Amino acid sequence: MFTAINRRSLGQLPCLAQRFHSTLVIAEHNNNQLTPITLKAITAASKVGGEVTRLVAGTNCAKVADQIRKVQGVKKILVAQHDCYKGLLPVLYYAQQNLLPRVSAKLDVATLSDITEVKSQDTFVRTIYAGNALATVKCNEEVKVFTVRGTSFEPAAVERGSAATEQVASPSPAGMSEWLEQSLTKSDRPELTSAKVVVSGGRGLKSGENFKLLYDLADKMGAAVGASRAAVDAGYVPNDTQVGQTGKIVAPELYIAVGISGAIQHLAGMKDSKIIVAINKDPEAPIFQVADYGLVEDLFKISPSVNDAVIRHIND
Ligand SMILES: Cc1cc2nc3c(=O)[nH]c(=O)nc-3n(C[C@H](O)[C@H](O)[C@H](O)COP(=O)(O)OP(=O)(O)OC[C@H]3O[C@@H](n4cnc5c(N)ncnc54)[C@H](O)[C@@H]3O)c2cc1C
Repeated sequence: MFTAINRRSLGQLPCLAQRFHSTLVIAEHNNNQLTPITLKAITAASKVGGEVTRLVAGTNCAKVADQIRKVQGVKKILVAQHDCYKGLLPVLYYAQQNLLPRVSAKLDVATLSDITEVKSQDTFVRTIYAGNALATVKCNEEVKVFTVRGTSFEPAAVERGSAATEQVASPSPAGMSEWLEQSLTKSDRPELTSAKVVVSGGRGLKSGENFKLLYDLADKMGAAVGASRAAVDAGYVPNDTQVGQTGKIVAPELYIAVGISGAIQHLAGMKDSKIIVAINKDPEAPIFQVADYGLVEDLFKISPSVNDAVIRHIND
């Protein structure tokens, strides 16, 4: 997401608004559906002040533009539809971690990553030291390029919006890379970063098979399943379940950490959860320092009782 765009400096990106004190938000979507985090980025953009414009680029993204039209606070939607966005390659458009450094380089400005608060048009708060300290930074660049930590902002309301839509030209393919195919993990469980309840497991689970305990619990609660890096590195669960500094950042209503010690790198990804429950047999485990409720127990003994308690709660 970046505030105020200078068209001359932006080279091959589509023709974009050049007003000062306006914010251009890059929409994340899959051509069908807007990702929930995009609504949070709109809230952050509104706090910066000025007009908020959305760029929706994709192969067939009219549906997404329609969804955004209803979002409060968006003045205009720029729609760029072209086959060159197939696979949403960063060279042309996508993936904020890949795209924004490219935009910053083109504009010769710095990127501010992962802001958690907007103090004013040029002053932002971001986390440092794996989320253990907050830095308030003033950005003197004329064009400010920044990414937003989704868990720190409420989603913009999808009602009463009336944004105008404008079709914009697309760049010619750069020819540097070509999208061939993608394999996405299919799951009936909610997506980790937007789930209201997350059940996460760590090395304490001891094997991938034992994660079944968590999958059963998650399915009863309609929860997503996460993991510590140690569990991922041990091959118990796939990489995309990792929560933490180098994984996903989550802030659900309820986070249940099972057999996770609570290293700072893990806490960096979940400590903003509303309620944290920890199950660990070691009373000294650091996870208990952030937990609202802690069970000092062997997880293999306690899991059946937790499961029963959840079923009773659901049936009541
Ligand atoms: C640069 C860097 C980035 C990192 N990024 C991440 C990240 O994004 N996410 C992340 O998670 N980690 C990350 N790490 C790794 C992190 O430092 C820890 O090593 C990791 O989080 C530990 O995972 P764990 O808690 O599952 O394992 P452990 O530290 O081994 O803890 C296992 C816990 O399970 C408990 N336990 C064992 N058996 C049982 C039982 N039967 N019943 C109940 N409890 C039991 C133990 O008491 C222990 O507390 C990063 C590290 C570095 C250096």
